[in-house]
Amino acid sequence: MFLNNLNKFFLFITILGTILFIYLLIDNYKFNNSKLNDEILHKIKQKQFYLENLTYKKFGISKKFPIIISDKLPSRLFGAAVFTNDQKIIIYLNKKRFKESVEYMIEDVLPHEYAHALMFYTNNFTEENAGHSKKWQKICKALDGLRCDRFVNHNDVIIGKTNFFD
Ligand SMILES: [Zn+2]
Repeated sequence: MFLNNLNKFFLFITILGTILFIYLLIDNYKFNNSKLNDEILHKIKQKQFYLENLTYKKFGISKKFPIIISDKLPSRLFGAAVFTNDQKIIIYLNKKRFKESVEYMIEDVLPHEYAHALMFYTNNFTEENAGHSKKWQKICKALDGLRCDRFVNHNDVIIGKTNFFD
């Protein structure tokens, strides 16, 4: 009797696990094949507006940088700042990374990349620390960035390519 119940129990767990696994597969598929939801897009817009205002207030610069959410970025990158061959400045956010933490992407990554974009805009193309110079750090902090660490190991500054992640 006991063994019988134990068997049922394991069968139950196996079925439950399978259902959960399928659910996660579908969930992942849906996420990968759809746009970010409106609530997240709205939050990004709000933060963009906030950063534009802060940039004007603190640096007297009135400039809108396009922010593109792309799933073509390598997964190690949360975001990137791109200065194209035809001198356009574009901020990219890695769509795949939104799945882990929306807050992190908006509060940490966006100001970080925004600071790189402002460096481009003010003709600072330093290679110091792969773009993470003291000046960049100052700008990042002025933009209320939470991740303005100069000694991080990532190559999120991209200069001189076109259509990098399109
Ligand atoms: Zn960076």
